[in-house]
Amino acid sequence: MVNLVLVSHSPSLVSGVAELARAMTQQSRVVIATAAGTGDPLHPLGTNAEKIHRAIEAAYSEDGVLVLMDLGSAIMSAEMALEFLPEEQRPNVLLCAAPMIEGSIAAAVQASLGGTLQQVAAEAMGALAAKTEGLSHIQQAVPAGTPVTDLTAAQTLLLTIENKLGLHARPAALFVQTAARFTAEIQIARATNEAKRVNAKSINAVGSFGVRQNEVIKVFAAGLDAAEALAAFQKLAADKFGERDEAVQPTVEVAPRKTTTVVDGALMGVPASPGYAVGPAVPLHFAEPVVERRAVDDAAAEWARLQVALDVVRGSTRQLRDQVAHSANSYDAAIFDAHLMFLNDPELMDQARQGILGEHVNAEWAWRVVIDKSAAAFEAIDDEYMRQRAADVRDIGRQVLTQLIGQPAAAVMTQPGILVALDLAPSDTARLDRSLVLGICTERGGPTSHSAILARTLGIPAVVGLGPIIMQVTERTPLVIDGQTGQVWTHPTKKLINEYTTRLTEWRDARDRARAASLAPAITQDGITVEVVANIGNPDDARAAITNGAEGVGLLRTEFLFLDRRDAPTENEQFDAYQAIGDVMGTRPVIVRTLDVGGDKPLAYLDLGHEDNPFLGQRAIRLCLNRPDIFKTQLRAILRASAGHNFKIMFPMIADVSEVRRAKALLAEARAELQAEGTPLADRVEVGIMVEIPSAAVMAHAFAAEIDFFSIGTNDLTQYTLAAERGNAAVAHLQDALHPAVLIQIRQTVQAAEAAGKWVGVCGELAGDPLAIPILLGLGVKELSMASGSIPKAKEIIRTLSLPEAKAMAAQVLKLENAEAVRDLLRKRGK
Ligand code: PEP
Ligand code: MG
Repeated sequence: MVNLVLVSHSPSLVSGVAELARAMTQQSRVVIATAAGTGDPLHPLGTNAEKIHRAIEAAYSEDGVLVLMDLGSAIMSAEMALEFLPEEQRPNVLLCAAPMIEGSIAAAVQASLGGTLQQVAAEAMGALAAKTEGLSHIQQAVPAGTPVTDLTAAQTLLLTIENKLGLHARPAALFVQTAARFTAEIQIARATNEAKRVNAKSINAVGSFGVRQNEVIKVFAAGLDAAEALAAFQKLAADKFGERDEAVQPTVEVAPRKTTTVVDGALMGVPASPGYAVGPAVPLHFAEPVVERRAVDDAAAEWARLQVALDVVRGSTRQLRDQVAHSANSYDAAIFDAHLMFLNDPELMDQARQGILGEHVNAEWAWRVVIDKSAAAFEAIDDEYMRQRAADVRDIGRQVLTQLIGQPAAAVMTQPGILVALDLAPSDTARLDRSLVLGICTERGGPTSHSAILARTLGIPAVVGLGPIIMQVTERTPLVIDGQTGQVWTHPTKKLINEYTTRLTEWRDARDRARAASLAPAITQDGITVEVVANIGNPDDARAAITNGAEGVGLLRTEFLFLDRRDAPTENEQFDAYQAIGDVMGTRPVIVRTLDVGGDKPLAYLDLGHEDNPFLGQRAIRLCLNRPDIFKTQLRAILRASAGHNFKIMFPMIADVSEVRRAKALLAEARAELQAEGTPLADRVEVGIMVEIPSAAVMAHAFAAEIDFFSIGTNDLTQYTLAAERGNAAVAHLQDALHPAVLIQIRQTVQAAEAAGKWVGVCGELAGDPLAIPILLGLGVKELSMASGSIPKAKEIIRTLSLPEAKAMAAQVLKLENAEAVRDLLRKRGK
């Protein structure tokens, strides 16, 4: 029979608990030994390892001993007591993190029934479930983010929120980002109810607080920089949180709709993205991840598991943000900034930590509870726009869950057609295979739902908010959708199909004419041709690049092959993937960047050990040089795929010239091996480095002799120059690559390259920023590599420029003091 040891700081507490536990087990033979107090009459409250050891000896049984303890030093003392035991006894003694009172009672009952040690422990760990369940209605009623601390000596500020949609997702995100810049504790309340305050550093709390247009809020700040914080909020509100009214579309339609309107035989929805589509319906049904509550022994490991999942989702969200930023505009990309803030939200994290470490439940369950609670808080707000934010919370929640469970995160579509879905999350919309999606129809969602915004961004015709009838549509039902009027016809007549096929052709022709202009080279007014190429991650991106007028690939992020899998891809798998991209690009240049993982892109199958600062740790080339097996496999695959194509190889995250030399030596080894094996490969493959670390820019003269080209990764170069982590929304204001500190390094790199007869490109997001393009050309950059969607616009801009003019502008901005000043000046010039 399993016996128990109860450990407490207080002898009276432990004897009370033991008494209660014994009463529950009636006449059973379960031994309940206790150890409490220090044994020091002057300081009696505390724990003593020797006492615990004696209690364990008294309760020892081959079937096992479960030790339950109260808090603090009790844990350490119990661990020490374990060490006093003979080695062969230790496996039979289990320290249990269950809450002492409930856990002891549950464990005693289970032990009296003859349970095994594991069963008794599991019962103890689940002991809080009944209480949590029973009181869940009270916890739901607690408003998200209600602060527990009362701010003393707080300075205050009254603000009227003038934004059309109040403090909705994006202004709320900016509000929280601003709060996070200050050390002061900051809370907000409605002026009409100062007692109900929320933490201003939590997006969850601020967003779900539901502040509407013209409401007056009171900001409370306490701490050294409280005054500065309030001044920053005042400026922010005066600037309407950077929001242009035209950027915010009014909420016309509510979701979910209970009925569907039919006009002239068409279902009436909300026009969400212009264009027309004619084709078969492809209904998409999401399988919500199934989550069960489990008690876990190693809560710390469970917490770490959640952290890894959160990190992965942060990484992919950041990537989506970067992609959308330049194929649409930064305003749309801010959707993902709001998502990142949810992923970093201190309140959500606290609640999840409490669930996992406090209640010893599995990460999936703890996370699901937190997300449900947060989404419910948004759903309870009497404002349609805010209610739609619940979908964002659920989207983020689902992504983390699918990551934890190991399911594919995104919706998949395997045949061309019109996608019919309940609703689409932003991440699903951004990941859709555009070649298959002719159009989108959803039951829910309004024109301001993020999926609608992103459908527009991606140029997919969409009608949303169609009501429940649309979900009755079966696979391959013929559909016609009009993204201009919001009409959707099921089983359309032949006449209607013909009419819309004609309209569709005309619409596509007009779009293609705009794209066609992009197929021509980008030549400045004074006759200089600028190479405009694309950043891609897979063969689909390569096709989109060509359609948009890319003259090649300036950055192939090879990570796509390595992420979301359980082991590293083989040489042949990689060869096939690179060759598929080479086949799309023909003889156009393709710069293949070697593996850039680590940092915010962890690989499940590479144990990098714990790193306090992963962005400063074993990332990219550092990891590759430490793992020549993985690196050489990749180099061999790239070299093999270079046959018949114009491939170049680029090493990321180079800090020191010795790294380039070692990487080149491994490349030479790979080449020699392949040649010895008689494998065909290109005679010469140019080698370049990314300039992403300030040391590479400062020492560009030393690198120039080693390589053929430089490509500036402004995303990381900005991160490392301004010491502002890329995914951290709280320091987003420092992450502007137009900062003169970054521009000066670009100039320095160009000067060193030119002196050695080498060329410089830019492949960070700055390359596709319309404001930055004249500056980069003026600094002497020869190649711009960007998201495909940005290419038509970038070419248009280049065609309006002359090089002397661009040089003069560049010289002028280099003298300015920060990125804000640079942007202000460039905007004024653009007017
Ligand atoms: C960069 O850092 O600018 C870059 C292009 O690389 P990535 O965004 O993939 O880190
Ligand atoms: Mg980088």
